[in-house]
Amino acid sequence: NQDEEKLTEYLDELEFLAFTAGATVQKRFTQKLTQPDSKTFIGSGKAIEIKEYVKENEIGTVIFDDELSPSQLKNLERDMEVKILDRTNLILDIFAQRAQTSYARTQVELAQYQYLLPRLTRMWTHLERQKGGIGMRGPGETEIETDRRIIRDRITLLKEKLKTIDKQMATQRNNRGKVVRAALVGYTNVGKSTLMNSISKSEVFAENKLFATLDTTVRKVVIGNLPFLLTDTVGFIRKLPTQLVESFKSTLDEVREADLLIHVVDISHESFEDHIESVNHILMEINAHQKPMIMVFNKIDDFSYEKKDEDDLTPSTRKNISLEEWKKTWMAKSKYPTVFISALTKENFPEMKKMIYDEVMKIHISRFPYND
Ligand code: GDP
Repeated sequence: NQDEEKLTEYLDELEFLAFTAGATVQKRFTQKLTQPDSKTFIGSGKAIEIKEYVKENEIGTVIFDDELSPSQLKNLERDMEVKILDRTNLILDIFAQRAQTSYARTQVELAQYQYLLPRLTRMWTHLERQKGGIGMRGPGETEIETDRRIIRDRITLLKEKLKTIDKQMATQRNNRGKVVRAALVGYTNVGKSTLMNSISKSEVFAENKLFATLDTTVRKVVIGNLPFLLTDTVGFIRKLPTQLVESFKSTLDEVREADLLIHVVDISHESFEDHIESVNHILMEINAHQKPMIMVFNKIDDFSYEKKDEDDLTPSTRKNISLEEWKKTWMAKSKYPTVFISALTKENFPEMKKMIYDEVMKIHISRFPYND
């Protein structure tokens, strides 16, 4: 039952991703397999079931929650005769739509080509089929090789371009000198940009969609006469495509080089604990997990859980638990300073600001030992 709840949450998120990309989801299919089929990911019976549904309802795209191997993608498209997207491709698509600056666009383009390169044959088999297949193999293969070369060249070029920008950004970061740097981190859509806006009185784009923010924004913030730099970073997500982690290096460098992490959590979201885990996982991957951190639980204005079972705190059964009760759970044992706020109503802002001030001050003092 717990597995099923997890599954629903995962598919809820996938549906939200699809919505962000501009698609409407008509139906969900799930299947329990001990391990994915190496050729088609799902079993053949399930593939037929989906194929029939797609035909009957004139569905344009089938989206998978996992990353499919190039051959799985190819086989599925052939068998089901419909466009297939996997999770990675969907996320890349959203990133491509949302990239604002030339830097973000370059990052996304690189990630897209890296995703595309091993999957080039797929497009060709597709074309071959349309053109009748036989006889196409020769020229097809040559064209693929040409395309591969073009794409490899493009990847090299994009990497060089990013390297140059990375250097510039590193210099910029160095020039920021000794000012303490705090970075907002968190799962996508938890309210980082909203918080950034309300703390720094800036106008960062905030929207109820995934990945509204791709570029980092740095603002100078002053709390109680203490100035520091605050960075809004790209939102993290479960199974963030590796191509993106790599190409968003500079964005993640902001996190890696921050002195203090402000980890924002959407406590109104049923899976907020999973989100925390995903974020911590990525922080570990980029070796930023040992930095001082403040936990900011956001959206308390939207907090409502009903409790069904006394001891059960799993997501959909933890109902009617008050926020006060929550705070007595594992949260009470957190090794990080923790605060509960609403970025919308600004509830508990003074407490949060004091907490940030204290942490920034600690770092500040450790750097400038005025008195010994
Ligand atoms: P980001 O992706 O982490 O930067 O999240 P955003 O700042 O873009 O916010 C995502 C959505 O959550 C937006 O629709 C915000 O209006 C909403 N939001 C942010 N903070 C709060 C809050 O404290 N309470 C409620 N109810 N909604 C919030």
